[in-house]
Formats: sequence, structure tokens, C-alpha cells
Amino acid sequence: MRIGIIGAGQLGQMLGFAARDLGVECVFLDPSDQPPAAACGHVIQRPFDDTMALSELAATCDVVTYEFENVPVEALHRIEDKVAIYPPAGALQHSQDRLAEKKLFDRLGIPLPGYHVIDTRNDLDAAVDKLGLPLVIKTRRLGYDGKGQFVLREQADIDTAWQTLGGNDLIAEQWVPFDYEVSCIGVRNVDGDIVIYPLSHNVHEGGILRTSRSPVDAPALAETAEQYVRTMLEHLDYVGTLALELFVCGDELLANEFAPRVHNSGHWSIEGSATSQFENHLRAILNRPLGSTASVGHAGMVNLIGDIPAAALEIDETHVHDYGKSPRPGRKLGHITVIGEAPAERDKFLDTVYRIVTQSSC
Ligand code: AMP
Repeated sequence: MRIGIIGAGQLGQMLGFAARDLGVECVFLDPSDQPPAAACGHVIQRPFDDTMALSELAATCDVVTYEFENVPVEALHRIEDKVAIYPPAGALQHSQDRLAEKKLFDRLGIPLPGYHVIDTRNDLDAAVDKLGLPLVIKTRRLGYDGKGQFVLREQADIDTAWQTLGGNDLIAEQWVPFDYEVSCIGVRNVDGDIVIYPLSHNVHEGGILRTSRSPVDAPALAETAEQYVRTMLEHLDYVGTLALELFVCGDELLANEFAPRVHNSGHWSIEGSATSQFENHLRAILNRPLGSTASVGHAGMVNLIGDIPAAALEIDETHVHDYGKSPRPGRKLGHITVIGEAPAERDKFLDTVYRIVTQSSC
């Protein structure tokens, strides 16, 4: 069996490591020199939409998947009659445009923050009237880790917001004073079987995920989130792993966004789950039986951002994942997972790791 993976970053790398255990070969398509996934498979070093490279993937692989959501949909359309591609292009298309994504949530009855489409400077005034302040303006496409966003706190910021982001397709979103953020990860295979991971509680700093912990002791929220993810997987005739990010407001959940791929907030599943999100993604696209998502203890994950301090490698009983990327401010270079027997033990351990990682980072 051979899987073609578009993108060879850390998600590709972790998919590649999981594939090894399943006896499956991976070949990656990525324009970068020495990307993380080069550690676990051959990388065709060409642009993501390179016709020859895509044809090579289609001709030599049993199935093709992708590890990030900015793969040109057109590239998938060019090979979809030659090889099975999962997740389906329709899911990718929805996730690439925040407006299409919000319309999908609306259509499926998944609650979400109020929003307003911004095409002109006047639309910004209308958004403030409709949604109130503060609100957040986001580019509709190509935003990630909080990039392409502007928080509008008062009327006087409107001109600056327009100068910063005007010229892009934009959307304004009501600012949500959430209690905390969670994600729900689900997996569906070709036969339509579905498994759902326990909720993950996620903390972001400056729009970038910093820590995740799972499971979350909130059974009613977990049940609601699971229902939303199941609805999405079935509606999109989805195959593979999907992550839905949600704001928790009291006993309500509001959808922020979804990713049609394995997700940073599920990295703890490598050690903290009977079957990792990476292995289940591969099982799904190969149409194998899906693995159990039962928790193994109480897991916590800290992202290693900007650099990997030497002190982080010296903490006992952690699982360090180094993606092999060169250090750069704001860049995700690795992560550390801890497992506790009880939530309090996990939280204490996670806080210690977080402190060591952030205090020794430059
Ligand atoms: P995003 O790239 O849209 O996932 O945004 C990154 C992070 O910014 C989220 O995980 C939240 O922490 C924060 N954020 C985004 N949108 C909102 C919002 N409408 N209200 C409050 N916080 C938000």
C-alpha cells in the first residue's frame, strides 16, 4: 500500500510515522527543502499544483490525502478521476473560505458567532452596527494561527482596520467572551463508520495553540460537540479526520472553524489515546476498521514554539516530539505530551512543562 500526501510538514511527518506501524509507504509532495516529513518518506520537491508531480502521485499511490487546508482545490480536481482523494474536495473547499464555512454551519444547524461580510469600508460600519464592539475582522482565505485578523475595539479603530486588511475578502465576527475553547475530532472511514475523540480543552496565545488537555469533564458539551461533528462528517460524505473548534459559553457551544485534516489539538492522542488521530486518519482513507478513541490516562500537550529549549528535553516522563524544523519566532517546532493518572496530576505536570518551556524560550 502506498499513500500520497500533499504537504510534508509536521502533520505529514506524524502521519508518516503512523503509516510505518501499519506497514504502509508514504510519498509526499512539497516544495520545501528538507521538510519534516522527509524523515519518513520520499518527498517530491515540487509546487502543490505541479501537474507532473500530481500525476505521479495519482499513478503510483493507492490513495491521496493532504495535511493542510490551503492545497489548491483545483489540484485535487485534476487527479480525482485517477485516484481516490480523501478528505473530499468539497470539505476542503468549505474550509478554505470562512464565509462558505459559516454558511455550512448555518445550514447544518450548528450555532456560531454572528458575522457580517465585508466588501467595502461602509460594510465595516454596518458590521459594527449589527454585531457591536468589540468584533474581529478576519481574511476569508489563507488565515491561520490568528494571522490575517484584526480586533476592532472602538469606532476609532475602523480606519486602521481597513488600512490593515482592506483589499482582501473579509468577514467580521462578533467577539465571543468565551469561558474556554474546545475541539472535537472525529474520523469517518469509506464505509461510513465514525469514531469521535474525547473533547480537548485548548488554550491559545496570540492566536496560536499553546496547550491542549483531554479528556474534558463536561459530558453534556461533549455529547453536543460529538453530534455536530457527526452531522458534518455525514453531510460532507467525509473520509478521514476532521477537527471542529468551538467556543464554550456557559452550557452553549459556538463553532469557530473546522479543519479537514489531522489537527494540532489532537497531538496528545499519540500517547493519550488507544489509537492516535494520525493512525485513524490512515485507517479511514484505507477503509480499514477504525481504532478505539478511548483515553489512555489524562493527556496534556504543550506546543514548542519559536525554539526548543534544552531544559525542555530534560523533563522526566514526558514525550518530546521534535519536528526537525529550524527555529524561527512563532514557528511550531515540536510538542511535548504528558500523561497523568488523574486530571489534577496531569494539570500540575502540564503547568510545570509549560513554565519550563516558556521561561527558557528566547
Ligand atoms: P482562528 O484563526 O479563527 O481560529 O482564531 C484564532 C484564535 O483567536 C481562536 O482560537 C480564539 O482564541 C481567538 N478568536 C478567534 N475568533 C474569535 C472571536 N470571534 N471571539 C473571540 N476570540 C476569537
